[in-house]
Amino acid sequence: MKALVLHAVRDLRVDEWPEPEAGPGQVKVRVRAVGVCGSDVHYYTHGRIGDQVVREPMIVGHEGAGEIVDLGDGVTGLKVGQRVTLEPAHSCGQCEWCRTGKPNVCPNVKFCSTPPNNGLMCEFAVLSAEQCIPIPDALSFEEAAMLEPLQVSVHAANLVGVVPGETAAVVGAGCIGLGCMEMARAGGASRIIVTDKLGYRLDLARDLGADETVNVSEEDPADAVLRLTDGRGANLVFECTNKAAGAPQAYDLAGIGGRVCLVGIPEEDEICVDSHRPRRKELRVQYVRRSRHAAHQAITLVANGQVDVARWVTHRVGLAEAKKAFEMVSKYADGVLKAVVLPSE
Ligand SMILES: [Zn+2]
Ligand SMILES: [Zn+2]
Repeated sequence: MKALVLHAVRDLRVDEWPEPEAGPGQVKVRVRAVGVCGSDVHYYTHGRIGDQVVREPMIVGHEGAGEIVDLGDGVTGLKVGQRVTLEPAHSCGQCEWCRTGKPNVCPNVKFCSTPPNNGLMCEFAVLSAEQCIPIPDALSFEEAAMLEPLQVSVHAANLVGVVPGETAAVVGAGCIGLGCMEMARAGGASRIIVTDKLGYRLDLARDLGADETVNVSEEDPADAVLRLTDGRGANLVFECTNKAAGAPQAYDLAGIGGRVCLVGIPEEDEICVDSHRPRRKELRVQYVRRSRHAAHQAITLVANGQVDVARWVTHRVGLAEAKKAFEMVSKYADGVLKAVVLPSE
């Protein structure tokens, strides 16, 4: 089969790869759509995220959907031909954290397209049965692929909690930021302010329901949020950038007694924050690791029309064009928000 394989920094190739077969408890899926995630691009441009280093050629991609083509022995409750969204994490199920309902922080988790685990940008993928979640007919494969990033936002909102009537700010209007904006709205926030440096993403944020947007290349975001909140700051801030500067900025946007939810994965290895301002405001800070148990919520939100993930997809490419798509995403070129690779086209 054909697969999109990362060999080294900026060395992404369409390779011939052995077609996998479903073993006991596993499911073979023809992959139909896979989103290009910021973390995939990070491996492409840096070869690592923190201490997770690409040492061997690795198939990239973890935001996937497809249809079941084969079932391994012992798989029940799924059938050939069924359309599914793919959960990229395979947790051990045995450790203290798995057993206490937090499989997303399982230290033994195997996550697609995190070295040394291969990802989904290939014609066929084999996953364990629990990783294949049936989707309603009304959802396209593209929408089903977008359920993975949406689940991160759902999980973030579940963790931090949205309070009806509050003011929420979202730093960074990528898909995760737009998802957090939608979750703030769904949770009852009365006012939502979204910041970014890219005007076209702010236009989409307004279109999808942001009350106010702030272009950080034109206005200091902390000044803007204070101006928009009568000097009070936001009650809840979702940080959804890929920069270390995002966290201190989120702390600045939060008002006294506010909550900050750090969702983004910074390119840099350290975050530098003021020692005093966040403490004096007694901010509550919540880190987020991927997502857990959020698939049902995400599917319902999309199927019900509350979150229009189809609007996130700006580009579609086959495997042959995928490297160009990675370059485009890495440069924020051509108005890209989410590029989707269609491995079976
Ligand atoms: Zn992702
Ligand atoms: Zn575990």
